[in-house]
Amino acid sequence: MEIFTHISDVKNYIHVKKIIGREIGFVPTMGALHEGHLSLIRASKNKELLTTASIFVNPAQFGPNEDFNKYPRPIEEDIELLKSVNCDVLFLPSVEEMYPEKAAVQMTMPLYTQKYEGEHRKGHFEGVMLVVAKLFNIVSPDVAFFGQKDFQQCAVVKQMVKDLSFPVKIEIIPTVREADGLAMSSRNRYLSAEERKKAVGIYQTLVYTKGLVQHEKNVENLIRHAYIYIEKFGFTQIDYIDIVQADTLQTLHIAEKENNPVMLITARCGTTRLLDNMYLYEN
Ligand code: AMP
Repeated sequence: MEIFTHISDVKNYIHVKKIIGREIGFVPTMGALHEGHLSLIRASKNKELLTTASIFVNPAQFGPNEDFNKYPRPIEEDIELLKSVNCDVLFLPSVEEMYPEKAAVQMTMPLYTQKYEGEHRKGHFEGVMLVVAKLFNIVSPDVAFFGQKDFQQCAVVKQMVKDLSFPVKIEIIPTVREADGLAMSSRNRYLSAEERKKAVGIYQTLVYTKGLVQHEKNVENLIRHAYIYIEKFGFTQIDYIDIVQADTLQTLHIAEKENNPVMLITARCGTTRLLDNMYLYEN
């Protein structure tokens, strides 16, 4: 695996590969890799793309009281994991390399970023859009892979690519889960043993609601039942539970199959925020 820390070096390398006809698959990450990340790398490798991962803990997407400094950075382990799935290229820039000065550009997409994660993490998606746009310009991927686990992020990136005509195809990969259903996340390692037991309550509430939607389509009722159901797990706080239309993220009133409803849940276990989602009509 080739490892680059400088923008000019990874750009040159990819430029040459493109000249000889290689197509580029790109998997942006913040590291602390797990099976979820590796499934994105595998999806890219399966398409025979020259697979480039990035590891960059992007300060621009963390709020002032968030976990930027304590975000896990097990870089040696990450490199071994990437090698184990035959990732071709790793781009591993420093903060100074990505932001030699604070970017003057500000990106926003109010219709997609004001609610849910955007409401609870002010400035988060502005930081995500900035770094994704920048990484797309550096790596110039033909296909970029994102995880369904970060559902709102997927919608934001898809819309940004559409609005700004980025020449990249976005592929969304299903959420990889632990054996009990908990969505894999780099932040799961913050959970104490007791919190880890509660954490599965998010997945169980999604599954419960997916069962309920067979005979209850009223979104207000579904959400009320979900709040009652999740209560017993003893989360520290439920940030939000909602049912939205998959592409637009607009709140639905009736959860019919034609509306492609997705349930979003974010809850805190101690100080750890856990997010998950599920299509209510998918097999
Ligand atoms: P992160 O390192 O958390 O920024 O995640 C990098 C990419 O991996 C994003 O596209 C995430 O949506 C994706 N990802 C994170 N967790 C999972 C998971 N459990 N299953 C599938 N994809 C995931």
